[in-house]
Amino acid sequence: MQCPKCGNQCKEGVIRATDPTNLLFKVPADVSWNPAESEGKIFKKGKISLKPKNEGYYCENCRKVYAALDLSEGYWIPEEI
Ligand SMILES: [Zn+2]
Repeated sequence: MQCPKCGNQCKEGVIRATDPTNLLFKVPADVSWNPAESEGKIFKKGKISLKPKNEGYYCENCRKVYAALDLSEGYWIPEEI
């Protein structure tokens, strides 16, 4: 994957997620994505569940990691209320 910031070829890898609660039954962490123009506006929230292993890319130039997360079942792209 090309870095969206600088265009450099990113290194492919794995982003690991662990349950910070350490409960007996593991709960996947939830993350959400909102369009950039949603800043300061009220948006419906869609959820993305992190898996223990997620597709990720690292750009050595920018020292950034990018995640490619699958949308979970029932996820909707947030829209303005
Ligand atoms: Zn970069």
